[in-house]
Amino acid sequence: MRGGSKDRHRILLGSSNPGKLREYREILGGIDIELVAPGDLDPVPPEPDENAPTFAENASSKARAYAAASGLQTIADDSGLEVYALRGAPGVRSRRFFGDDAAAEERNAKLLALLDGVTDRSARFVCVTALASPDGHVELFEGEVHGEIAEAPRGDAGFGYDPVFVIAGDGRTMAELPSAEKHRISHRGLAGAKLRARLAGGA
Ligand code: IMP
Repeated sequence: MRGGSKDRHRILLGSSNPGKLREYREILGGIDIELVAPGDLDPVPPEPDENAPTFAENASSKARAYAAASGLQTIADDSGLEVYALRGAPGVRSRRFFGDDAAAEERNAKLLALLDGVTDRSARFVCVTALASPDGHVELFEGEVHGEIAEAPRGDAGFGYDPVFVIAGDGRTMAELPSAEKHRISHRGLAGAKLRARLAGGA
């Protein structure tokens, strides 16, 4: 382990997604814990597979694998966008649905093309956050936010599908919200608030 205080409870944020790492650091800010990313560890723990059919199973298995490899209590997140007209896709395959190497702009363009002419554009973001101990014990925290897919991308904040997700009852896309406001309503913010309460109450 490079750097960091030895006194604070150290927790691994088991993700290689910079957007998720940033958001969990913000959501869990101010608690007396030290959050480390896989790249901060030596050796760097391998990135686990995520091939299960549900967000909960993927979040659990990722958190367990990272916790076993690192010996640290670990947070892992499986999340994604479910579009009703696409029978829930991209869903648990949100990261790879439009191709392994597709950039966010390309994925958003492909999603909008799939929905060309579709009037029911209802969608939701789902997040399951898992907290695992090295002994394999896992707790899950869930959040979701409803909305619809925009006709065109708007906004520069956030990451991933944020520019094409219009928040129900708000009218802005997720990418038009300052991050603190996104965390108050988002799937990850809601799951993360429950995790935050758990960690603040004693890890
Ligand atoms: P995974 O959980 O690593 O399999 O990937 C989740 C994928 O869902 C991300 O790569 C994004 O494409 C998408 N996603 C999850 N949460 C968000 C979010 O808060 N905003 C935008 N896209 C998200």
